[in-house]
Amino acid sequence: TWSHVPAGPPDPILGVTEAFKADKDPRKINLGVGAYRNEHGKPYVLPSVKKAEELINSAKPDKEYLPITGLPEFTKAATKLAYSAESIPYAENTIAVTQSISGTGALRIGGAFLARFYPHAKTIYLPIPSWGNHTPIFRDSGLEVRGYRYFDKKTVGLDFSGLKEDLRNAPEQSIVLLHACAHNPTGVDPTLGQWKEISDLVKEKKLFPFFDMAYQGFASGSTTRDAFAVRHFIKEGHQIALAQSFAKNMGLYGERVGAFSLTTSDPAEKARVDSQLKIVIRPMYSNPPIHGARIAETILNSPELYAQWEDEVKGMADRIISMRDRLYDTLVKDLDTPGEWGHIKSQIGMFSFTGLTPPQTKALAEKAHIYMTADGRISMAGLNNGNIEYFAESVSTAVKG
Ligand code: PMP
Repeated sequence: TWSHVPAGPPDPILGVTEAFKADKDPRKINLGVGAYRNEHGKPYVLPSVKKAEELINSAKPDKEYLPITGLPEFTKAATKLAYSAESIPYAENTIAVTQSISGTGALRIGGAFLARFYPHAKTIYLPIPSWGNHTPIFRDSGLEVRGYRYFDKKTVGLDFSGLKEDLRNAPEQSIVLLHACAHNPTGVDPTLGQWKEISDLVKEKKLFPFFDMAYQGFASGSTTRDAFAVRHFIKEGHQIALAQSFAKNMGLYGERVGAFSLTTSDPAEKARVDSQLKIVIRPMYSNPPIHGARIAETILNSPELYAQWEDEVKGMADRIISMRDRLYDTLVKDLDTPGEWGHIKSQIGMFSFTGLTPPQTKALAEKAHIYMTADGRISMAGLNNGNIEYFAESVSTAVKG
């Protein structure tokens, strides 16, 4: 029956982890993985998450089904975190929202909803490059995927004029995907001024903005600062779609906690949209898992735990930022590595596009047991005081040829 099924290609990111696992050298480093690691290179369960779990367990909760759109205390708190309590859609109760299977599920529900109900277009524009899963998610949701220029290889920064030109040339009312903060894979974000220009352009061209916010708090250490783009668009009167993930900022990767929301014109329209979100979700997976949503809700709705969590997110962001500074100093000041390395410090979030070429990344894997994706993307979270010196020396050697 299945003899005609061809073997599919391996996942480009998970393949890196497999190669890493097979390597027996004690110096080996895995910089492919998109999950935070502490200063000892180990996974990190946030103390605020542990406390929330203790609180939940002591209340001896049942394991009944959640509603189709999830835990209401969670979805309300998630929209408050993204939009702010002061924003008009939050205050006026016009945000349609559902819990989702983390950020991926939020994007997929959003794609399916837009494919079914967005009346003006079936085309979504993604930045080039974008997170590798965006294209299959939206394609499988029933949208046509196109791209807009984003990254400039020459400057290792934002190609802002290319971005503006491509969005200006897109058909009016197309859907455009925007990374709200900590662009993956490049680590390059627009400045606040550039976000304002993007908002104006989106308005002028009547584009529909779909924000993917997988790293709120994780980029700068401040949940408010990282929400700037989303909140600016809302202030400017845009209607938006938003995918949120709590994988990174709460370290809830495997718990699969996320939310998808849409701003609507009034509470009656919101109720109609909510009813259709249920109809999209019900045949996909019926209703979402409960445990992670309880953890996130407990943290977000308790002033003490919330304050503790904000400190812990900042701790993760700060450790990553300190690794950027140290890597830059070692590469440039100590090792006099040829090339321009300022982007290591200016890029934001978990990832950095190093500018290393595919032959250099291959050499690093084979000679130095250092693993990253072939495009030269490294997870800064995989670096720590114990391995950063060795990493910088190996990069310097690879670059010097
Ligand atoms: N969007 C972006 C840009 C991401 O980097 C990620 C995680 N790598 C996600 C969405 C979704 O991840 P998850 O489904 O684990 O929340």
